[in-house]
Amino acid sequence: MGLGPVWRLRRRQEAAAEAPEEKASPGWIELKAAVPACTACKLHQGRTQTVFGVGDEQADWLLVGEAPGAEEDRLGEPFVGQAGRLLDSMLAAIGLSRRDNVYICNVLKCRPPGNRNPEPDEVAKCTPFLLRQIELIGPKLIVAMGRFAAQTLLDTDASIASLRGRVHRYAGLPLVVTYHPAYLLRNLPDKAKAWEDLVFARRTMQAL
Ligand code: SF4
Repeated sequence: MGLGPVWRLRRRQEAAAEAPEEKASPGWIELKAAVPACTACKLHQGRTQTVFGVGDEQADWLLVGEAPGAEEDRLGEPFVGQAGRLLDSMLAAIGLSRRDNVYICNVLKCRPPGNRNPEPDEVAKCTPFLLRQIELIGPKLIVAMGRFAAQTLLDTDASIASLRGRVHRYAGLPLVVTYHPAYLLRNLPDKAKAWEDLVFARRTMQAL
């Protein structure tokens, strides 16, 4: 004889109670609360605040830099100051804006002391935040800005020069490489190359 409905219900409740708890992936609200509370690596000790990211949360374009600098750490927003203004004007030249159709963030959400390079364990601890941002945004194209971001995302020691002008892949998405705007401020002749990269990125986007 089969089990009655009350017993079937009780069995299901018991099975649910015994099943390992499945953690739902965080949405934007949970993620934005988790990052400022994060103490997973030693960088939390020296930060003024975390720098989560900014822009259109459904953007087709995702720009990823290295880590917050002093101004970003102070203001809580990535790519501010002179470098940020340069980036904004380059984006505007191809019809993009961090307010409308671009999302900007860094590999690391906390500032490394003295702007030193991030260390591998810090990258490993922080990368899940970036990966979840990518899942939530669902961009069509990633632009890695600067040597560190490019080398980290592509897991390579290759130079920016050798990585530019090609379509790579990260997290299943096309990725192109360009210079960091802070580098361009110190090396003005390379602005022309960065412009070529953006035009290449736009062409890549149009072909997707
Ligand atoms: Fe957490 Fe990332 Fe900050 Fe490290 S850098 S404390 S992993 S948010």
